[in-house]
Amino acid sequence: MTAQTSNEIVQESMFEAVLARLDVAANLMKMSEDVAIILRSPIKQVKVSLPVMMDTGKIQVFDGYRIVHSTALGPSKGGIRYALDVNQDEVMALAAWMSFKCAVANLPYGGAKGGIKCDPRALSVGELERLTRAYASSMKDVFGVNKDIPAPDMGTSGREMAWILDEFNKVTGEDSPGVITGKPIVIGGSLGRDAATGRGVMVNTLAALKKLGLDPKKITAAVQGFGNVGSHAARLLSEQGIKIVAIGDHTVTFYNEKGIDIKAALDYAAQNNKVLKGFKGGVEITSEELLTCKCDVLVPAALQNVITEEIAHKIKASLIVEGANGPTMAEADAVLNDKKIIVVPDILANSGGVTVSYFEWVQNKAGYYWTENEVNSKHDEKMEIAFASVWENASLFKTSMRIGAYITALQKIEQGVKLKGNY
Ligand code: NAD
Repeated sequence: MTAQTSNEIVQESMFEAVLARLDVAANLMKMSEDVAIILRSPIKQVKVSLPVMMDTGKIQVFDGYRIVHSTALGPSKGGIRYALDVNQDEVMALAAWMSFKCAVANLPYGGAKGGIKCDPRALSVGELERLTRAYASSMKDVFGVNKDIPAPDMGTSGREMAWILDEFNKVTGEDSPGVITGKPIVIGGSLGRDAATGRGVMVNTLAALKKLGLDPKKITAAVQGFGNVGSHAARLLSEQGIKIVAIGDHTVTFYNEKGIDIKAALDYAAQNNKVLKGFKGGVEITSEELLTCKCDVLVPAALQNVITEEIAHKIKASLIVEGANGPTMAEADAVLNDKKIIVVPDILANSGGVTVSYFEWVQNKAGYYWTENEVNSKHDEKMEIAFASVWENASLFKTSMRIGAYITALQKIEQGVKLKGNY
C-alpha cells in the first residue's frame, strides 16, 4: 500500500474532501467519467425550516436537512444527526459516504443523510419530541420503505426513531415499520442493532490484526467517544482480550496503562446521564492526548476531523479503525500513509450499523424476527467479506485501505449506474 501525497488531495470542505478521494479512486480504477460526473452531485437536497414551540412559550426555528446522494444500488439509506454544526456541506458528505458504505458492505442500498442543526443536550425531552415530529412530518414525501430509510446517528437514538415512525405513520395513514431502522425492539427493531456499529469496529479490528500477524491478547487500544459506537466498541474489543488503555467523551478522558475496567465504565455511564464525568478510570488526559497516547490501536469514535495533519505526526498507534464518520482529515491521510499506519476507513469500519439496519428492514418486510445470534453471525460474515474485498483492492491497486474501499464501492456503483442507464 502506498501513500497518497498531500497535493493529490486538496480539502476545501467536507464534501470537497469526499470528492477529492473519489477522484483519486476513480483515476486509479479508470472509472467512466460520465459516472464520476453523476456521483459528484447528490440526486436530491431538501432543506426545511422547522418552527417549534419551546418550553418558554416562544417559537424557535431550526434548520433541517435530508440529502439523497445516490440510488444506483437501491433505496437510499442513512442516519439523522442532531448537532450544532450540522450544515448542507456536512450532510452532503455524509450522504455520499453512505452510498459508498452500503456498496462496500454489499447492501442493496444507495446513500442519504439527514440532520437538524440543534444542541440536543440543551433541549428538553418535550422540545426534542416536537422538533423530531416536525422534521418527520416535513419529510413525509422524502422518506419511504422502498424510497429513503433513515436511522440514528450522532445525537439521536431509538427514542427519536420511534417518534419519527409514529409521525410518519400518522401523516401517511399507513403502518410501515421498515421506513426507519434503529427502532426500539418492541416496535420492530432488530436484536443486535444497538451494538452493531461497535461490533463492526471489533470485527474489522480483529481482521486487520490477523493480517498484521498480531495477537489481540497482546494489544492495547484507545477509544475516543463513549456514545453508541465508542462504548460498544470498547466493550467488544475488551471482550476479545484487547487491553483498553484510554477512553473518553466530551466530559472527561482517562489513560491507564494497566487497562480500564470497561464494564465499570459502562455501568457508571448508564447511571450518570450516559457520560463518564466523575468515573475513576485512570489519569485524566485531554481528548487530543488520547489520540496520540501510547497504544497499538486507535479507535476515533466521536467526531469528524479530529485527526489533523499535526496530530497524525504524533500518533503512536500502528492501526487506526475509524468508528466515527470522517475522523481523519484528507491531509492527515498522507502522513499516516508515510508512517505506514494502517487505517481501516470509516466506510468499512463503521458499516456494521447500516448492515444490521438492513437486517432490521429485511425482518420488517418479512414480518419475521431473528435471534441475536443469527443477527450477529450474519453481520460478522458480511463484515469479514467486506474487509477482505477492501484489503484485496488496496493490495491490487497498491493504495491505502481508504482508497481501496472507495474503489470497492465505486466498482459496484458504476455497474448500477450503467445498468440502469440515463435519459
Ligand atoms: P453518540 O451521540 O451516541 O456519541 C458521541 C460520543 O462522542 C459521546 O460519547 C460524546 O460525549 C463524544 N464526544 C463528543 N464530543 C467529544 C469530544 N470533543 N471529545 C471526545 N468525545 C466527544 O454518537 P454515535 O452514534 O456513537 O456516533 C459517533 C460517530 O460514529 C459519528 O461520527 C457517527 O456519524 C458515527 N457513526 C455512528 C453510527 C451509529 O450506528 N450510531 C453508525 C456509523 C457511524
